[in-house]
Amino acid sequence: MLEDNKNDAELIQEELHNSLGLKIEFVTVEKRNDFLKQLYLFKPDIILSDYRLPQYNGITALQDLNDSGLDIPFIIVTGSLTEETAADSIKAGAWDYVVKERLFRLEAAVKNALQVKNEKDRKMEAERKLLTLSKAVEQAPVSILMTNKEGVIEYVNPMFETLTGFSSEEALGNTPKILKSGEHSQEFYAELWKTILSGKDWKGVFKNKKKNNEFYWGNANISSLKDAKGEIINFIGIELDVTENKQAEENLRESEQRYQLLSNATFEAIFISQKGICINQNKTAEKMFGYTLNEAINRPGIDWIADESKDLVKLNIMSGYEKPYEAVAVRKDGSKFPCEIQARMMKHNGETIRLTALRDITQRKIAETALIKSEKKYRELIENQGEGIILADLKENISFANPAAENILGVGKNGLLNKSFKDFTTDDQFQIILEQSKVREKGIKSSYELEITRADKEKKIILVTATPRNDERGKMIGSFGIIVDITERKQILNELKLAKENAEESDRLKTVFLQNMSHEVRTPMNGIIGFSEMLKDSDLSEAKRNSYANIVINNSRQLLSIIQDIITISSLETKQEMASKEATSVNDLIFELQTIHNPKAVEKRLQLKGEKSLPDNEVFIYTDSTKLRQVLNNLINNALKFTHEGNIKFGYQLKNNVLEFYVKDTGIGIDASLHNKIYQRFWQVEQGTTRSYGGTGLGLSISQGYVELLGGELWVESELSKGSAFYFTIPYVPVDKTLIKRVHPKNISSFNWETKSILIAEDEYINFVYLEELLGSTGAKIFYAKNGKEAVDLALSTKINLILMDIKMPELNGYEATALIRKEKPDLPIIAQTAYVNTEDKEKAKAAGFTDFITKPIQQKDLIKTMEQHLV
Ligand code: ADP
Repeated sequence: MLEDNKNDAELIQEELHNSLGLKIEFVTVEKRNDFLKQLYLFKPDIILSDYRLPQYNGITALQDLNDSGLDIPFIIVTGSLTEETAADSIKAGAWDYVVKERLFRLEAAVKNALQVKNEKDRKMEAERKLLTLSKAVEQAPVSILMTNKEGVIEYVNPMFETLTGFSSEEALGNTPKILKSGEHSQEFYAELWKTILSGKDWKGVFKNKKKNNEFYWGNANISSLKDAKGEIINFIGIELDVTENKQAEENLRESEQRYQLLSNATFEAIFISQKGICINQNKTAEKMFGYTLNEAINRPGIDWIADESKDLVKLNIMSGYEKPYEAVAVRKDGSKFPCEIQARMMKHNGETIRLTALRDITQRKIAETALIKSEKKYRELIENQGEGIILADLKENISFANPAAENILGVGKNGLLNKSFKDFTTDDQFQIILEQSKVREKGIKSSYELEITRADKEKKIILVTATPRNDERGKMIGSFGIIVDITERKQILNELKLAKENAEESDRLKTVFLQNMSHEVRTPMNGIIGFSEMLKDSDLSEAKRNSYANIVINNSRQLLSIIQDIITISSLETKQEMASKEATSVNDLIFELQTIHNPKAVEKRLQLKGEKSLPDNEVFIYTDSTKLRQVLNNLINNALKFTHEGNIKFGYQLKNNVLEFYVKDTGIGIDASLHNKIYQRFWQVEQGTTRSYGGTGLGLSISQGYVELLGGELWVESELSKGSAFYFTIPYVPVDKTLIKRVHPKNISSFNWETKSILIAEDEYINFVYLEELLGSTGAKIFYAKNGKEAVDLALSTKINLILMDIKMPELNGYEATALIRKEKPDLPIIAQTAYVNTEDKEKAKAAGFTDFITKPIQQKDLIKTMEQHLV
């Protein structure tokens, strides 16, 4: 109270106490300072002020109050108030005025002022509150939206705009459907509406869509606003963006799912244990062992292990062993299976846990067993294989060899390891290996023959079949080789090949021979037949008859020699030919041959010279003179045949107990490449139908056969067109010359056997006539027996000096007849006439009791000579 008059002050107090009945505190001030001070100290609810004060006045106080900013009801209480001052007071901000004379009005004025003030304060408070609220709403970090009860948006805060991307202009008038993502079901929204329409708050999480179609997650609270009557007028939705959390949650869930998937999808059972007790297992573990997760948890880990493996597993757990190892596991049903275990100690949330992975290796074990079986099978196969098997690296060093390979190379067990074929071959042969290895580098299998020297120095030929060996990437790392000892096979093959070639050659030669033969036989036969026909002509002159007869005789001889050759060859071939040794004068032989062949040499204008290098008495030797003669004859005949000018020398030399004979000519010669062929039967340098030289190709073959039979060898030195020199040796076996009965051939016409009786046993009459003719000139008395029986009869009944006995005869053959005669007349000379000429036949004849034999066809000279020896 601003009042200088104490009585008035008391009166006013009195009045207010009485009328208001309130406990009222009063402070009365007069001066401006006190007034201002009490405004803050006393904090009055109402100010009653005098209009006029000694040092202050009501209007000024009003102004001071306004300046202070305090809003306190101010009532002027004055003694004298004009219309004017009242108006000034109100103008200055006084709430009311009361005249002291009419103090009863004060009560209403104060009451009214306090009520207005109260109202004003409340309003101010409400306004302040609203302001704060709206600020909070505006600045809230959550999205806020308000709709009317029909759901039309009436307000959105800035966060809504930020979150959804819709501006408030775009949002207002629309419904929250603009945020619908389509991710929630119909029921979801129905439930929401049901809740809020019932007046309750709805709480939940929306998956909403922004203006740009991006999704976001909002944790929402929707509540309703009601008016005084409890009618819903608005809905307010508050939404907190939880996309990030939701995402993190989602990620977490996904990662959890992935982890579950991972751990359940493994082929291994996985256990986590702590202090030996299972605290977790994956799905595979459940499937593998049959314990559910619940059954597994808190079970000792060792329960999964079969008795036989428990010790091992316990030991590995205790020692913290972390490498994989094999054990036997046991299922819930007690069945067992082999497994591989690998475990690891780990720290998890400060605790030590053991993570164990267990893999069922039943299949692997089965495969392993199968592998071991098949490995054993193949090992046995390789070990017992007859062929050598070898593995070699790129440098041809051997890393594996089976027993057969060791056998072939002649080494003991493992004797080939780290060795190379180089140790068993010459450098040349190893070169072949290296070349073949290059072939294999191209991926090609190679097969080749190799000469090796075994550990025991024995030489062998092996067949190597090598295939390249590659690693997984196809790079060559060596070879796989199969070796076979083909030494024997090779040898047999070579022999077979040779035999085949020989057979072919012999076949060919026989064909050639037949052609030659036909020619060689036909030529003399034509002569014989032709001239024999002509001899029948009775008008022939003596000279012509002689000449024709000679032609027939010569041709017959030629034919005979061909037949003789063929017989000789076959008897040589069948080894029936034998040497019949007798004392022989080599010098006489040389002389004889020189004499015989000279006419031919003269005819061809060649010089023929037989050379004797030893005196006569030193070259009486033991040999088969017939064969020796024939060899020399053949060689000289050839020399004469194949020489067109120059000379032919033949003779002998004594060299180290052998006589080395030679026949040298200056003829056409023989190419060195053919030297070993000419001895083959029927073989001739000139072949086929264009031959310019006759012959059968048997001469050298017979000569060689004879020389070998005599114990020597035959060879040639010759060059084409440089002449030839044939050599052969025979053993030098000299004979005491006094033992030699030299036969000096007489002229046939000088024989006179008129006192002799000769029996000719011969079934072919013509042959008998021939023999009778041959002996006609001797004057001998001839008896004829046409078979063996007649011969025996005649021989025993008549005085006979000599019998010429045919071998093949009816009734009794020559042998039988002779045997019978021999019994009676042991000394009667019986000479066999035989077509067989081999030594065996001769021996047989002698054994049968024949004195001698003579070969058919019989030549007059030979016949007389032989008979002369035995006729006494
Ligand atoms: P042939 O004389 O009947 O043909 P051989 O066996 O005596 O049969 O001789 C075989 C071959 O050897 C002859 O055909 C000839 O080609 C060759 N030959 C033999 N001797 C001589 C030689 N002195 N000079 C040249 N070639 C010869």
